[in-house]
Amino acid sequence: MKTSLNLLVLSGDGIGPEVVDAALELLQYICEQEELDLNLTEDLLGGAAYDKYGTFCRDQTVETAKQADALVVGSVGGPKWDSLDIAGPPETKDGLMRLRKELNTFAGLRPCKCYTPLIQHTPYKDHIVKNTDIMVLRELCSGMFFGYPRGIDELADGSFQGYDANYYTSTEIERFARIGFELAQQRRGKLISMDKSNVTESGVLWRRVVNQIGADEYPQIELIHQYADNALYQMTMNPKAFDVVLADNLLGDLASDLAGTMAGSLGMLPSACLSTLNPDEDTLAGIYEPVHGSAPDIAGQGIANPMGMILSIAMMLQYTFKRPDLAEEIESAVVRTIDAGVTTPDLNGRSTTKQATQRIIAEYKQL
Ligand code: NAD
Repeated sequence: MKTSLNLLVLSGDGIGPEVVDAALELLQYICEQEELDLNLTEDLLGGAAYDKYGTFCRDQTVETAKQADALVVGSVGGPKWDSLDIAGPPETKDGLMRLRKELNTFAGLRPCKCYTPLIQHTPYKDHIVKNTDIMVLRELCSGMFFGYPRGIDELADGSFQGYDANYYTSTEIERFARIGFELAQQRRGKLISMDKSNVTESGVLWRRVVNQIGADEYPQIELIHQYADNALYQMTMNPKAFDVVLADNLLGDLASDLAGTMAGSLGMLPSACLSTLNPDEDTLAGIYEPVHGSAPDIAGQGIANPMGMILSIAMMLQYTFKRPDLAEEIESAVVRTIDAGVTTPDLNGRSTTKQATQRIIAEYKQL
């Protein structure tokens, strides 16, 4: 266990700074209690960086990120920047995608739990969603989001054609599948891999490689393949049948937001972007960020749900700093805050971001 936490903080846009401030307030308290040295370096990412530097992520930010133990990221993007016409690969248009790629954090761990008091805020019946505990594992460094060829071409008749490639190598699928099997081993021993192998070649390769890794290296794990459309349907109808879900970049993006419906709000979901489940001194920093985006519709109102960001800090303590005990305590404090009904408006509560955060800190102190 490291006794100093050297973090690069990139609050980003919209509600990003609001939820990051909340999470850092709790982290500061925890570090004081545990006598951990907390060193924060702050920088801009996303639209905030574009407005100041004309780029969504500076080279200097990437270099600082490579030296950090971990990155704490809020959220990036917003209407002001989403429709800018910027040439170059996708990484030039999205600072977070650049960081994920540069740090090779190809494994996006997106856990989703349905806490009992929040069932009423989900669109599900109690018996369907109660005790749901899913880990969506989304591939983050390849696939549709990065693949080539891509573009928009004008055709001879004056109409246009837009296209993207869902590009995966067997090496990329192998390393990602191993993380999925490892996670399944640590959890309930079941891996559901989703793909579109009925209609795409990348899906055929995906299924073949995942099968091979399962048979050769993890025969004890129950591996189930589902076509993605059916997988999302099954996940909605019977979420408790799911443990670890393995999905490519695009399908994982969809699956993790669907999981948000089971948690009661997208604002509840944390995430970790990693290149290994067991980072050591030589591993590049992990990125810890909530699943949600910059929520322009509520930005600046002080009502964003901070729990997804706070639970992302718990994941950071668990994975990068090897303190699962602290991660568990944070989750307990969040659960107790929910039990007390201190929630933000996305969960039909009346609390502000600050009030919910103060209650989480107070609950943490009681543990
Ligand atoms: P979003 O996740 O920002 O918001 C979707 C809905 O969920 C909105 O109604 C929003 O108010 C609500 N919501 C999200 N987080 C919440 C929270 N913590 N508390 C309360 N309510 C919350 O998705 P969007 O509106 O499609 O995207 C907005 C911008 O964010 C876009 O520019 C998009 O590209 C970007 N985005 C960024 C990330 C990221 O930084 N990782 C992820 C997704 C979207």
